[in-house]
Amino acid sequence: MSHVFPRHCHKPLPTVVGGEGCYLIDSTGKRYLDGSGGAAVSCLGHGDAGVIAAVKDQLDKVAFAHTGFFTSEPAEALADRLIAAAPAGLDRVYLVSGGSEATESAIKLARQYFVETGAPERRHLIARRQSYHGNTLGALAAGGNQWRRAQFAPLLVEVSHIAPCYAYRLQEAGESAEAYGLRAAQELEDEILRLGAETVMAFIAEPVVGATAGAVPPAPGYFRKIREICDRYGVLLILDEVMCGMGRTGTLFASEQDGISPDIACVAKGLGAGYQPIGAMLCSGEIYDTIARGSGFFQHGHTYIGHPAAAAAGLAVLSAIEDRGLLHNVQARGALLDAALRAAFGDHPHVGDIRGRGLFRGIELVADRATKAPFDPALGLAGKIKSAAFEAGLICYPMSGTIDGQRGDHVLLAPPFIIDESQIEALVAMLHGAIDAVI
Ligand code: PLP
Repeated sequence: MSHVFPRHCHKPLPTVVGGEGCYLIDSTGKRYLDGSGGAAVSCLGHGDAGVIAAVKDQLDKVAFAHTGFFTSEPAEALADRLIAAAPAGLDRVYLVSGGSEATESAIKLARQYFVETGAPERRHLIARRQSYHGNTLGALAAGGNQWRRAQFAPLLVEVSHIAPCYAYRLQEAGESAEAYGLRAAQELEDEILRLGAETVMAFIAEPVVGATAGAVPPAPGYFRKIREICDRYGVLLILDEVMCGMGRTGTLFASEQDGISPDIACVAKGLGAGYQPIGAMLCSGEIYDTIARGSGFFQHGHTYIGHPAAAAAGLAVLSAIEDRGLLHNVQARGALLDAALRAAFGDHPHVGDIRGRGLFRGIELVADRATKAPFDPALGLAGKIKSAAFEAGLICYPMSGTIDGQRGDHVLLAPPFIIDESQIEALVAMLHGAIDAVI
């Protein structure tokens, strides 16, 4: 009997024993094409010799030294490298162990910033309904996914949620993409005014929404207007790039494509590519300097922040992306994946939308394409597609999301940046088979 506390108590899992490139291998020898990099993690695939060697090398020097006493070479080098590549204005890096720690740190940093600037009444966070920012209580409060939040509701921090930027469902007939983007962003200003700008500390959003909506990119101009609104009311903009960042959409930071800089950015997943658990919160010089001049101490911290072996992995991943030209792969192979999805599902009666950027792609499943009516949630479609695909040897990420009370199903794809054309074809064929076996 296993003593591991699994995610699902009644679902026995195969044991993974190996990984090679885009494949994972279980103890029976079965191979699985990793079409979602787990959950958008394994951007370099499995068994990357360069990253493994970098981690081993660091372990030989020193595995761990508490950041209350030391900084380390890989942590310093990783911070430099992230800042050199980050949107303008970001100046400091706080290294953590994953995505939830990064967003939780961001929320606490925003709060402390306003306490230290003498505006402690700014404590309100605004987020979007179709979003996921992590599972710790603060991050969960920020998220808008009812299914994940429901049973913890009394414990969660109060956060307001506005509508996501979700053209497939919320753009009106006859409305241009640009006009829709501006209308969606306007909700933020309306909410700030409703709450009173002097009470709002930050707005948090994913540039391209991942797990709760299936790779939904923003409408053109949406984030530029969001940036303007945040500036007008002195509200910090936190961009959660935990899933969509680190090259996944074809640029190192997804928000580069929207032409804006946040005050705080969160990255994780692809940063360590699964070789070590690592995330990072990047903040502006203005926020850092305020705290440095004030208390001089961020009232936060975990034992493993700035972990040297994890930082070495992050550094090696960023080097691999740059040295091997992998952003180009993401753009070119992302276009191939998009084309393959459109060829396979463009006329499919139950695929309402095909979307995404780079190697971050999603399809939305509908009961009726004409009305966009979602499937009955009781069908548990997402779980069934995941199982059928897994059985066939494909790892993909089907999820159900809720938008304005309406539940919808989608499948998220986020394969390694090294995926080749024949693997893309195999991925789409297996996904097609799994969907047709279930619907
Ligand atoms: N933010 C986003 C956008 C995510 O997709 C996730 C995880 O899926 C998180 C935060 C939380 O990251 P982690 O699971 O590493 O804590």
